[in-house]
Amino acid sequence: MVVVMDLRASEKEIKNVKKRLEELGFKTHLIKGVERIVIGAIGDRTQIESSGIETLPGVEKIVPIMKPFKLVSREVKAEDTTIRVKEFAVGGSEFGVIAGPCAVESRKQLLETAWLVKKAGAKAIRGGTYKPRTSPYSFQGMEEDGLALLAEAGNETGLATVTEVIDEKSLALAVEYVDMVQIGARNMQNFHLLKAVGRINKPVVLKRGLSATIEEWMMAAEYIMSEGNYSVIFCERGIRTFETYTRNTLDLSAVPVIKQLSHLPVIVDPSHATGSWRLVGPMAKGALAVGADGLLIEVHPEPSKALCDGPQSLTPDNFSNLMNELDSVARALGKIINKERS
Ligand code: PEP
Ligand code: MN
Repeated sequence: MVVVMDLRASEKEIKNVKKRLEELGFKTHLIKGVERIVIGAIGDRTQIESSGIETLPGVEKIVPIMKPFKLVSREVKAEDTTIRVKEFAVGGSEFGVIAGPCAVESRKQLLETAWLVKKAGAKAIRGGTYKPRTSPYSFQGMEEDGLALLAEAGNETGLATVTEVIDEKSLALAVEYVDMVQIGARNMQNFHLLKAVGRINKPVVLKRGLSATIEEWMMAAEYIMSEGNYSVIFCERGIRTFETYTRNTLDLSAVPVIKQLSHLPVIVDPSHATGSWRLVGPMAKGALAVGADGLLIEVHPEPSKALCDGPQSLTPDNFSNLMNELDSVARALGKIINKERS
């Protein structure tokens, strides 16, 4: 249920309604939008009907939410959510680009990439330090040493930093070093981990699961929000289909679907979606055109030597050219990619 408060409701009235709902056994979430203030109340709906909540001072109306996802839904918050970290901003009128190597491999590799992607206009640097690889014999990541390098890259360049967490141990360490955490496709339904990232106060990039429906993906975001972390960024990274020519199949239609159903930002990762650097540019431009709020792109100074995902990584030059092209597409659409030109 959503308890819609009168715009003129006082803090005291809002507090009182929240308290009453909690007494009735509801978990409450106060959501202050520009147009309205609502209290999301998760619990047994029948409890509310006989409770007299509707008659409390400051309450405008009570609206049931029919969809299984509640806090994620536009029914709770009509306007787009914008998430900001340092200069990185995503959602609403903001288009945010995260770029960087699949994995942090060395200080030189990461710092060099960070400066180059910043010059090209990215506002956040990514790099995996705990890599959930298909084979146990593949490079597993630099772990805490990699996290320290990410922190250094973030401090030196001013870029926001993102890394994937794979369990509570890596999460506890990552929050000490980086600005945002990522839940990978393979962990999208690791509900324990989703709840754990729901208790941190840093944004979460939530990748779509390999075979997850849009509803399952939205329910994963609901898990995070239900614990109190409202900064969730959806990331479409391609899904499994019968097609084998590309690594995955990029479901671009998920972007406008999410935009219709949710107030949260949605970005697209054309690197993992296609598996091929030649396809990254076309799909990135497509993503911008269909309304994505940003991109996550793998960039490596020497893709042929990358320890992970080299074939899908752009060189810094190719990334810079793509950013220029995206700029033109954005202008044609009446949008601005806030670029830092040097
Ligand atoms: C990644 O971002 O490097 C990654 C492993 O992505 P995904 O979880 O989408 O496969
Ligand atoms: Mn990768």
